Amino acid sequence: MNLNMRARIVAGNWKMNTTPEEGKKLVSEMIPMLSAELTGKVHTILIPPSLHLTGLISLFKNRPMNLSWGAQDCSTHTKGAFTGEISAAMLQSIGVSYILVGHSERRAYHNETSTSCREKILRVLEAGGCPIYCVGETLQEREAGQVTQIIEQQLSEGLPERLWEESLPFVIAYEPVWAIGTGKTATPQQASEVHGLIRQWLKIHSSAQTATTTSILYGGSVKADNATELFNMPDVDGGLIGGASLESRSFVDIVKACAR
Ligand code: PEP
Repeated sequence: MNLNMRARIVAGNWKMNTTPEEGKKLVSEMIPMLSAELTGKVHTILIPPSLHLTGLISLFKNRPMNLSWGAQDCSTHTKGAFTGEISAAMLQSIGVSYILVGHSERRAYHNETSTSCREKILRVLEAGGCPIYCVGETLQEREAGQVTQIIEQQLSEGLPERLWEESLPFVIAYEPVWAIGTGKTATPQQASEVHGLIRQWLKIHSSAQTATTTSILYGGSVKADNATELFNMPDVDGGLIGGASLESRSFVDIVKACAR
């Protein structure tokens, strides 16, 4: 898919769920429901645990539908003595096109900052991949009226200028922390407001072209029954889906809700 054009995207973040066998079963269930026509309209990305990627990619290659693969994280380093880490180049070499950077669970439990995210984004770009950069405020920050400040800070600290200087592909996911895995979804108006803010920030700090072509996804308790109204908002180009991506029918229904 050409990400120099604004794409409709649905990405399923499986987090630390499923064994490799369960992962194969989940994708096998989705395949008959995902037509080439649908995945031609909605770029569909599966983001399983990294352990599963090699097996899943080889098992499901040569399918008519356009499935892409993503990883949930990568190292800030390129190689060397960093026990437990996986580099962006390693992921790219096995067929992974997208890498999540700065998911709120990584920020909360692994002390990731927007500055370390910037390093990760640079590694993804050097490897030839596409970062999906996650931003979002906590409930406390929202209640303190700090949404704009927090989002703008995450954008300015996390996004390297190289992205627009060299017209490199990237995706942004707005994920309010209070909506992730909680069953509380942002209203379409709340999501739209922040997506508009992100697009305006891009217009001011990068270029009108980058602002127009960058896909901005919403994430936070998206389900089949609330996806349509969220995805119909003008600046919402699709979703980053956690819990509902672990159930084949729900995930495919969400992909369908994104089609235009
Ligand atoms: C996520 O983990 O990115 C996410 C949005 O999770 P959930 O859909 O379960 O809220």
